[in-house]
Formats: sequence, C-alpha cells, structure tokens
Amino acid sequence: MNPESQPAGLMNEIEIVLMEGIKEIVGPEHAGELLAHLQRRLGMANRQAPVNPAALQAILTERYGLLSGQGVALRSGRAAFHYGLRRWGEESGMISQEFRLLPFQRRVRLGLEKMAFLLARYYQAKITTHEDEFYWYWRVEACPAGKGMATPPGCSLVVGLLQEFMTWSGGGKFFRVRENTCLSREDDCCEFQIEKKAVE
Ligand SMILES: [Zn+2]
Repeated sequence: MNPESQPAGLMNEIEIVLMEGIKEIVGPEHAGELLAHLQRRLGMANRQAPVNPAALQAILTERYGLLSGQGVALRSGRAAFHYGLRRWGEESGMISQEFRLLPFQRRVRLGLEKMAFLLARYYQAKITTHEDEFYWYWRVEACPAGKGMATPPGCSLVVGLLQEFMTWSGGGKFFRVRENTCLSREDDCCEFQIEKKAVE
C-alpha cells in the first residue's frame, strides 16, 4: 500500500495487511472509499482499540451487499495472506527452509499456531488450534471487539486467509474451510474448520 493511502498511526499492521488484500480485489479507488467509510464510522478520535477483521467485513457487506460482500471478503482474505507472508514470513519462520521441509500435517498445525500467535499480539483475542482425524480447528474467543461486530454470515475474510494458507501449504491444492460458529451470531467463539483432505 502506498504511503498516501495509509494514514499514519491509524491502523495496526494486521489491518494494513487486510486492507492491502481488499485493495487488490476492489482496486485502489474503492479501497480508499471503504477506508474513509470505516474511519468515519469509528470516529477519528476513537482509535484506541484496533479494528478487528469483523469490522472490515462489516463495511464490505454494507458496501457490496451480503453475498457480494462475502465474496469480496473471501478473495481479499486470500490475497491478504500473501501480504502477511511478506511482512511476517521471515520473523515467524514460515518461509524458512526448516519449516518448508516439515511433513505436511505438522507444517499446517505449526503454521496455524504461528498465525494465532501473531494475531493475538494485535488483538485481545484468545486463539487456539486443535485437530481430530478429519479436521484442523482454529478457534477465536475472548475477543471483546468481536461480539456483535461481524455481519452474518460471519468472518469470510478469515476464511479466505485460512484457505490461502492451506493452498500455499498444500502445493496449490484447495482445502475446504468453513466457519462453524461465529461471535456475530452470539456464539462463544468463531470456530473455523479446515478439512485435512484436499478437494480432488
Ligand atoms: Zn466469526
């Protein structure tokens, strides 16, 4: 993102990365409008708390409608993964030779944990990872900004992010990701479920 579209001190790094993804999908002009809209909505003076991905999702839904907004959010989340990788790939170890050489399942689990760790640095969220025979789960809870903030049908930006992480990890294959529960529906957490088997 170029400097003039990135208001100083206004966004944390996660938001910048997500906005970069959104900008790639909707184009710089529309991304600028969305950002202005978001800032008006939050109030310039009231920027102590970071915007969570749910707030970004909400303005996409407002701007493009429910279905299109969800589609834009999914694609933006996928694009944002690569901006995130550029920004944190080295620091997190995710682009290291050692990481890339781990067995696939081990690499995915570790990658999910690393992304959770990174997000928890910027948001007051507790993010945990677990798995069973068929799925990995990524659970976001205790996020004070999250409750009631997301617009149904939920957190497509994060679904997109996780989808692209899986495609990147799995040599270009597609893995189904769905959100089982969502803070926006008054559930206790947003739980994302990732299929261990790629779509044939
Ligand atoms: Zn959610």
